Amino acid sequence: MQTNLNCLANICAFNKSGSCYACHIKVEGFDAAITPETYCDTFKNNSAFHLSNYSGEISLTNTQNISCSANNCVYNISGGCNASHVDINSNNASCETFKSK
Ligand code: SF4
Ligand code: SF4
Repeated sequence: MQTNLNCLANICAFNKSGSCYACHIKVEGFDAAITPETYCDTFKNNSAFHLSNYSGEISLTNTQNISCSANNCVYNISGGCNASHVDINSNNASCETFKSK
C-alpha cells in the first residue's frame, strides 16, 4: 500500500517498516519555529505499548490523517497538513517537513 507519510521513529509501536499504522496522528508544535520544536504526539514507545493489546483502529496513515498545531508551518491549513509528503524523524518524532512561514 502507498503512503505519503514516512516515519523513522522505529521504536514507536505504530511504526511498521517506516510506515505509520496509527490511522490518525496529532503533530504538536504550537510555537514551533524549527523542526525540533515539533513532535508526533501519537508516538507510543513499543517497550510499554503493544499493538496486539490495542483495541483502537489500525490502518495506514497518510498526510490527510494529520491534525497539526504548528501554525507557523507553511503547510498548516486550519490545523490540517497539506504537504504532499511528510517525513517524521527518529529523533523526538519531530516533523522534518516543517517549514517556517
Ligand atoms: S511516531 Fe507518530 S508518525 Fe511515527 S509511527 Fe508513531 S504515531 Fe506514527
Ligand atoms: S509539514 Fe507542517 S503542517 Fe504538516 S505535519 Fe509537519 S509541521 Fe504540521
